[in-house]
Amino acid sequence: MRRRIVAGNWKMNGSKDLAKSLVGDVRSEVGSLANGVEVVIIPPALYVADVASLAGVDLKVGVQNVSQWSSGAYTGEVSAEMAADLGCQYVLVGHSERRQLFGETDDVIARKVERILGCGLFAMVCVGETLEERDAGDAEVVVAAQVRKALAAVEPGQWERVVVAYEPVWAIGTGKTATAGDAQAMHAAIRKVLCDMGAPAEEISLLYGGSVKADNAAALFAEPDIDGGLIGGASLVAEDFVSICRSVP
Ligand code: PEP
Repeated sequence: MRRRIVAGNWKMNGSKDLAKSLVGDVRSEVGSLANGVEVVIIPPALYVADVASLAGVDLKVGVQNVSQWSSGAYTGEVSAEMAADLGCQYVLVGHSERRQLFGETDDVIARKVERILGCGLFAMVCVGETLEERDAGDAEVVVAAQVRKALAAVEPGQWERVVVAYEPVWAIGTGKTATAGDAQAMHAAIRKVLCDMGAPAEEISLLYGGSVKADNAAALFAEPDIDGGLIGGASLVAEDFVSICRSVP
């Protein structure tokens, strides 16, 4: 049985006060959920310690990015080792905002995945096509290449700590969501790529991200290859985020 996961990516939003109230509200609600969903909070790195101290056993904590290096003269960076030291379990890697705004290449993403897994953490690896790529009919080819490159160095015993988040770039923060059918088709294609790579594809959790809201989550999560969601905007409102967590079957 694959793990069902809902992860909230706060991006560069929030404050100490928000961390306190939001994590408190989410924790009190999801602690009693019977669907077994694993709920992950991914705040800005400066608030990870605050969130970790409030998360208890009900919530997991992640960081939005780490360096491809483990330590040294890399001003402004944080390492996977530091994330583990602070009590994080997950690291988001390869988010389209990192790829597009900060020039992260597939090669850098692969090196980050290596570091994350090497530190015993879970890597939540984001992939997704742009609107131009989808309109050109290239979506599956683009996403397959991203999966293969990002996960090229995963060792046999490490796959259980890999999660792939399919996030079509045109759906992130736009209010546009892939239809459940289109998202399912891409998830099935990703699972096939993982299988072709020799990974235990049926055991790897695949999440959908891109304008998931309380009113569209259930239809997406009902698809057989969609094991949960990576949530941006809606993760900043406790009621919406909890409702999405409840939508996991
Ligand atoms: C994201 O940031 O990964 C994301 C999916 O954002 P949103 O839910 O706001 O589209």
